[in-house]
Amino acid sequence: MVVAKGNRISLLHHVSANLSSVSVNALEKEDPCVLWHKRLGHMSEKGMTVLAKKNLLKGMKCVHLNKCADCLVGKQHMVAFKSLPPHKKSELLDLVHSDVCKMLVRSIGGAKYFITFIDDFSRKVWALPLKSKDQVLGMFKQFQALVERETEKKIVESILGHLMHIAKSKRLGTNSHLQRHHS
Ligand SMILES: [Zn+2]
Repeated sequence: MVVAKGNRISLLHHVSANLSSVSVNALEKEDPCVLWHKRLGHMSEKGMTVLAKKNLLKGMKCVHLNKCADCLVGKQHMVAFKSLPPHKKSELLDLVHSDVCKMLVRSIGGAKYFITFIDDFSRKVWALPLKSKDQVLGMFKQFQALVERETEKKIVESILGHLMHIAKSKRLGTNSHLQRHHS
């Protein structure tokens, strides 16, 4: 694409290009109405008509503005996410959330992971250390025995992140409390 030509004299190029008198020089061939609309900061058709009547828009007599994509995007408004009704469980141990997290540094006791259990009703959190991931199932059973003894209730459901994968590989029976959930 050639923008301007000039003659080289010594180390300089003397350019004799014709520049438009208006401040914006558009290279693409666009509808003058759209071009003015953009130059004027996406002015409304009504506002542009007022200016056109005063002969302030060069080359524009009547304004007929087609739909401008940028304006349409600008007029869109954000729709708030509908807040879901709370579905908190009504009893202790009705639902226990669980996940396994890896630690960056091994603990003094040699743990590289920790497992969390969160009771959905009370929001009480337990975080227990694990040396390896294969201890997950054993730790879950220890936790289950502890809380069921303390509360005299049974864990109804457990939402498990990494645990499900491990639980599957251990071939748990169907009567187990471990169930898969997509949370
Ligand atoms: Zn616009």
